[in-house]
Amino acid sequence: MDTPKRPDLFSPDSIFINGKVITVDDGFSIARAIAVKSGVIVAVGATDEIRGLSGRRTRTVDLKGATVLPGINDSHCHMSDWALSRPPLSLDVRFPVVRSIGDITKMVAEKARVSKPGDWIVGDGWDEGYLEECLADARRKPGKTDLDMAAPANPVFLQEYSGHRALVNSLALSLAGVTRDTPDPVGGRIGRTEEGEPSGLLFERASAVVRSVMPSWSYAQRKQALVSAMAELSSLGITSFTDAGTDREKWACYNDVYDESFRDGRWTCRVNMLLMLGGLESMKGAFRYVGARTNFGNEWLKVGGVKLVADGIPPLKTALMWQPYVDGTYGLLVTEGKTLDEQENSLREAIRLAHANRMQVGIHSCGERTIDIITDEYMKCIAADRWDARHYVIHSDFARPETIDKVADFGRRTGCNLAFNVQSGIKWTISDLMETVVGAERAAYHWPLRTMLDAGVCVANSSDAPVVYPDWRPGIQGAVLRESKATGRPSGPAQCITVPEALRTYTVNGAWLDHKEHVKGSIQPGKAADFCIIDGDILAMDPHKIIDLRVLMTVAGGNTVYDAGAL
Ligand SMILES: [Zn+2]
Repeated sequence: MDTPKRPDLFSPDSIFINGKVITVDDGFSIARAIAVKSGVIVAVGATDEIRGLSGRRTRTVDLKGATVLPGINDSHCHMSDWALSRPPLSLDVRFPVVRSIGDITKMVAEKARVSKPGDWIVGDGWDEGYLEECLADARRKPGKTDLDMAAPANPVFLQEYSGHRALVNSLALSLAGVTRDTPDPVGGRIGRTEEGEPSGLLFERASAVVRSVMPSWSYAQRKQALVSAMAELSSLGITSFTDAGTDREKWACYNDVYDESFRDGRWTCRVNMLLMLGGLESMKGAFRYVGARTNFGNEWLKVGGVKLVADGIPPLKTALMWQPYVDGTYGLLVTEGKTLDEQENSLREAIRLAHANRMQVGIHSCGERTIDIITDEYMKCIAADRWDARHYVIHSDFARPETIDKVADFGRRTGCNLAFNVQSGIKWTISDLMETVVGAERAAYHWPLRTMLDAGVCVANSSDAPVVYPDWRPGIQGAVLRESKATGRPSGPAQCITVPEALRTYTVNGAWLDHKEHVKGSIQPGKAADFCIIDGDILAMDPHKIIDLRVLMTVAGGNTVYDAGAL
């Protein structure tokens, strides 16, 4: 299925004319029209040229000057989890859907009206920093009393956007047996009112006390959620994504949804799975019995490789650094072992094991020291046993200039490049916060995209949803401007990249990471007909407005998978 199909040019299924087609080919050329046949782009060129190919059954879409981009590739996210954290299973209590505690109360009341007594009402995404009442009075916190009248007969559990706090109602507390006498659990805190009653806010591990009495989603619900999530991704112009952290259940779920929904057109994204195989021993077990390699599957559902997690995250000061955080700590590795040396060795062994089994490796790795360890082991593995692995660093927050140069040089010498996977959309949301974590100078360097691109390494951008909403527009705007979402303050303007460069990080570079740059990632004859149509010229506009661009239509494999009805 990998070889680009080249059906004849005449009588394409559809043509798209009078647009500005940003092909993202090697020369970043601009065209006006595209012809599509059997799911493949058969011609790209001027409007007259493409119109001349049409036959009796050809559908013509007049783009009326709209801009066309290659389909967006969200190269690192957790869509299985994101699918469960949004409608229809979870209430979306994110800003700007809700702007006040009052909005949350109303939304919960509406849900309660259509729920059976006793059914759990769950939601995700509230953020005190965007709730009117809390903004007006810093002492005002959301609490159980905001939910009790709205849903007296239904337990309510609303996760905060960060995942570190939850808001629940009185019924949820009583089902979990939480009273004024319940002590705080280890690693958590039960929020309390001045009178000592549980307030309805649960911090860190305390939310697990309530979670433990919540029913888990049924398999049917999980499958339904995936289909609905894909429809939303299509509405965002996304045609490919990598679900990084696919365990046994998630792989099975993707497999079943694919079987059930591909034929009727509800499977609308090219899904690349990075498998979570557990610790070293269970990885060995998996490789002993399963011979799946990188690229097992087809163009719509495939195994990309193996996901490992090496360290924590910089905002929590848990990513392993050479230089200390402002509080003097250095972070840590989360791999197996009792000492740092043992942990480093088990991490290196896991990389060697996956490499030997012809699995591409993507490793969650944010701290400069962790990134040094894994890139070093990647290069050693490739030098000793060369194959086109394209191992990569996930997050790559504090990759040092020396390390980036070393990786780029290795790629030039061996022809085997490594890559850095980054999240410019997260940078946008946490750039102010990071100054309090690593100081102003290092916060400015955080996610050094300019240094990476100048060195000549592959950089692929992504959302890491559900950490942030899987929207590429803040990612591109963030990569180009590096301004804080909250304050607009620039953070490390020396690391800004251009719009064309940012577009590459969301399209061809992601395709390369998928080992699929020959079949997707740019608008060129012979490649899959994956593209999205937007209502503004992203190359010419004020980059501050990129987040406001509207997606008008998305085409994946030649099918219109989203249509806003504007063309
Ligand atoms: Zn992630």
